[in-house]
Amino acid sequence: MKALVYHGPGQKRWEQMPDPSILKDTDAIVRIDHSTICGTDLHILKGHVPTTEPGRILGHEATGTVVEVGRGVSTVEKGDRVICSCVSSCGRCRFCRAGNPGQCLDEEGSWVLGNTVDGLQAEFARIPFADNSLNKIPDDLTDEQVIYLSDILATGYEVGVMLGHVQPGDVVVVVGTGPIGLSTMLAARLFSPAMLIGVDPAASRREFALKYADVAVAPEDAAAAVADATDGLGADVAVEAVGIPQTFEQCCELIRPGGRVANIGVHGEPAHLHLETLWAKQITITTGIPDCRAIPTLIKAIASGRMDPSAFTTHRYGLDDTMEAYDTFERAAETNAMKVLLKH
Ligand SMILES: [Zn+2]
Ligand SMILES: [Zn+2]
Repeated sequence: MKALVYHGPGQKRWEQMPDPSILKDTDAIVRIDHSTICGTDLHILKGHVPTTEPGRILGHEATGTVVEVGRGVSTVEKGDRVICSCVSSCGRCRFCRAGNPGQCLDEEGSWVLGNTVDGLQAEFARIPFADNSLNKIPDDLTDEQVIYLSDILATGYEVGVMLGHVQPGDVVVVVGTGPIGLSTMLAARLFSPAMLIGVDPAASRREFALKYADVAVAPEDAAAAVADATDGLGADVAVEAVGIPQTFEQCCELIRPGGRVANIGVHGEPAHLHLETLWAKQITITTGIPDCRAIPTLIKAIASGRMDPSAFTTHRYGLDDTMEAYDTFERAAETNAMKVLLKH
């Protein structure tokens, strides 16, 4: 089969690889029907993710069709259309049993696909713990409607909205309006916030964000926009959706006393935590990766028309154009790419 293989920082190739096979009774083999590229894949390609070794097939966001299951798999069968969750979970370890499979302790648990286990930007993939990691797609939904549940929508909902504890009437500021920021805003809408404020330095991204945000401002205008919306108190929730020190620090400046900062971004260097201003403000800061437990809930939200992420797709490619798709996504500032979809 063909697959997108990481060959060390800055190097990737679309090349021939062996077809995957069942290694454990709990595995399934999925023929990938659609995949997409994530900002995390770009982090890997920059060499920021040391757990990903050269030779690894990248990708952790895809839909597909089950072609084979191990003897221990009982919830999906050959022919089922499925969403591949970016998180795999054993279902048995301490964290899985506590409802926190994103922290699964198994060597093939948590975020392993396209990281420490071959991933989904390929014609076929082996899915560990298929019973816990695959979600059937209802017949009346297209792949394109649900593919972003693999990662970004689950992440926005679980790590941004749920951990940030967004409540009806809240003023929510989302710093960074790339795919994760948009996902967070789309998910936050389910909870009827009073105002959603997107913050991004790129004018094109601010414009795109207005599909989901009430207001979109540049970073230097964020404090004024939040003050306007809150009588100067600060935002109820600030979601960090970039992964650099400035955006985390800005979130901590934008919240009200008692407010919540939900960090989603993948950080590669330390950020300052200004306890000299925050120590008495009773704030909550959360971090995390998704558990992907919300995927069934979000499938229902999409099926009922409450949530429609299909506008995230700005570019479409065929499988053999995977390298070109990467190029478009890597140059998002020029191409205005939000999500690039690969049809296999
Ligand atoms: Zn991702
Ligand atoms: Zn586990």
